[in-house]
Amino acid sequence: MADYYDTLELQRGATQEEIKKAYRKQAVKFHPDKNPGDSDAEKRFKEISEAYEVLSDEKKRQLYDRYGKAGLGGAAAGPGAGRGFESMDEAMRTFMNAFGGMGGGGGGESIFESFFGGEMGGGGGRSARQGASKRVNVTLSFEEAARGLDKELVVTNLVACTTCKGIGASSSQSIKKCSRCGGSGQVYEQRGFFAMSAACPQCHGEGKVITDPCKSCKGEGVTKEKQHVKVHIPAGVDNGMRLKMSGYGDAGQGGGPPGDLYVFITVEPHEVFEREGNDVILNLPISFSDAALGCKKEVPALGSHVCRITIPEGTQTGKTFRIKGQGFASVHGQVRGDLLVRLTVETPTHLSERQKELLEELRTLEIPGNMPNRKGFLDKIKDLFS
Ligand SMILES: [Zn+2]
Ligand SMILES: [Zn+2]
Repeated sequence: MADYYDTLELQRGATQEEIKKAYRKQAVKFHPDKNPGDSDAEKRFKEISEAYEVLSDEKKRQLYDRYGKAGLGGAAAGPGAGRGFESMDEAMRTFMNAFGGMGGGGGGESIFESFFGGEMGGGGGRSARQGASKRVNVTLSFEEAARGLDKELVVTNLVACTTCKGIGASSSQSIKKCSRCGGSGQVYEQRGFFAMSAACPQCHGEGKVITDPCKSCKGEGVTKEKQHVKVHIPAGVDNGMRLKMSGYGDAGQGGGPPGDLYVFITVEPHEVFEREGNDVILNLPISFSDAALGCKKEVPALGSHVCRITIPEGTQTGKTFRIKGQGFASVHGQVRGDLLVRLTVETPTHLSERQKELLEELRTLEIPGNMPNRKGFLDKIKDLFS
């Protein structure tokens, strides 16, 4: 048998969280309830469960890392380690310990079911199952995120079959109590000292069988349908936010509740604006003379607004002007962000002869007081050398 890490498709330094995740992924795939009568899947399920049993226990894992499987033979490793899982029971016990109750015939939310959602084929002995939840990605422009919008999404969901109204049978007369389990959905087997309950193989835990399945849905009770879902995306949504639309996933089965629809938001970057929280940043380059002499400027804001700012005489690069209320609305409350205009003073390039002449003349007239930062800088240098 392969290396435990290889079995779970893990790196040797994997964290406990990664180990559990890897096991979960494979267990969902090879679980006997999903692969009834498939001996290859069963073998695989035993292998991954054994690997998980060892790697999830730091003590056993250390021994395994150092000495391989031989290291697990000792008393410290505890029972069950060091040899392969012979029976399915051992593998199932590992699985149940990892993910909570399963196959016990009611009580407690099993993480397993939330995995399979509507497609779970049986197992729990409960016929009511929640529908699967869905994810939809929506990409918005920067401006759309600022003003919010209503969007129509197309989602392919399982819906209750209209022909049989979700019962899966041609008529209610063709639903019969399961003869194997007498309608309980559970069968009991004596295994050694234990009486184990398991989902009835004949009715897959439903407790009933359909003698004449509905033709439209082939007995499933649900059919696939393209649904148009209107979603209101509020003003102020940000990249990475997620909206939950309760009940817009797959229909539940056997009276179970429907799944949910999750709308994942991506906001495209803007050419000139950036976002910081609910504030909008605008980097505005201005000329050296505008900065020195002062001026009035019109600047763009969200929603094609135009704002006016007054740049006073002697403004330095990096100076930021805050324009109240011109940022994003907050999706959580009434507050609104601001527009922050950050100035960059540009050094002129490609000067004409005339411009050079004027600048040369300016240079001869410059006095230390023209340059507040430079004066401070020279003072510090002086202190350093005195
Ligand atoms: Zn039907
Ligand atoms: Zn049965």
